[in-house]
Amino acid sequence: MTLSEDFHSKLKNWLDWQQEIEPFFFGSRFLGDLNKTLEDALKTLYPEPDITPLLNAGAETAAKPTEQKPLSAAVNAYKYDPSLSPVENLRREVSQCTGCQLAKCRTNTVFGEGNLNADIMFIGEGPGETEDKTGRPFVGDAGQLLTKIIENGMKIPRDSVYIANIVKCRPPRNRDPFPDEAASCIGYLKKQIEIVNPKVIILLGRVATRYILGLDTTLSAARGTSHEYNGIKTFVTYHPSALLRNENLKRPTWEDIKKVMKFLAEAQ
Ligand code: URA
Repeated sequence: MTLSEDFHSKLKNWLDWQQEIEPFFFGSRFLGDLNKTLEDALKTLYPEPDITPLLNAGAETAAKPTEQKPLSAAVNAYKYDPSLSPVENLRREVSQCTGCQLAKCRTNTVFGEGNLNADIMFIGEGPGETEDKTGRPFVGDAGQLLTKIIENGMKIPRDSVYIANIVKCRPPRNRDPFPDEAASCIGYLKKQIEIVNPKVIILLGRVATRYILGLDTTLSAARGTSHEYNGIKTFVTYHPSALLRNENLKRPTWEDIKKVMKFLAEAQ
């Protein structure tokens, strides 16, 4: 195959793929901007870039132990109210939590939201600025992309899935949660998983993968296969904020999402 044939066949594949996922990522911009399309198509001639540095950004700080010890359990005592549902009790407990230093700088805790009977549960890393302000998960830029993936790509309403994070309070400057912060918070998420009992968990990014599956590999390695968390089929894909920084990750993310949809269709 000559270089030109190779180029044309790659361009054709790429355009076919664009067509398939057009509503998912590109919206009306896709049809209106041919120059951009060609420019992006050229990028497909080059191999996917090594994203390890991107995925490891912040790992140095995450590996450092924090100065502050977790506060005593007594400070964190929550009185269970039997008149409320288990999930409402959990939400209130989280809203009063002072179990780690992140409690000191939060505006709101971000418990999680969605359908308590959902088939699909997405797990991210921790709240960003908009989530801290609103108390809702994935509502900033990355959240809007996640919503597009769910609604335009998977073609299901966002409120039909459940969305939660490893930590419920925003780490300063959106750094990765420190291990002691994740350890102090993860029990809440584990209870949420028990309550929702989804058919599938989708882990968004390296931090969620690390704390749910205990995998400390690169994300590319973790994506290669599906996993199990307490008997629940678990898939790993890129965090939407990585997609915002690197457009080339959208395609592999869509491939991951298609695997999830295939699994769910076969499980019916
Ligand atoms: N990133 C996350 O991991 N979670 C959010 O809720 C928002 C951004």
